Amino acid sequence: MTAASTLRIGEHTRLECRICWYVYDPAKGDAFEQIPPGTAFTDLPDHWRCPQCDAEQDKFLPIDGT
Ligand SMILES: [Zn+2]
Repeated sequence: MTAASTLRIGEHTRLECRICWYVYDPAKGDAFEQIPPGTAFTDLPDHWRCPQCDAEQDKFLPIDGT
């Protein structure tokens, strides 16, 4: 992930897995990894990976708009 795209990730930014299209929504968190709702993508623990395909965090891209 480039520095430019990292800067676009805010508290409420949703990100989509490029491998399996799983969407991480900060408003929902991630029950699978016991991430509480309201956790920004950038605040996820380093070991967090895609719950569906185990992709690393740098495989996620921000989703613009809705
Ligand atoms: Zn995935």
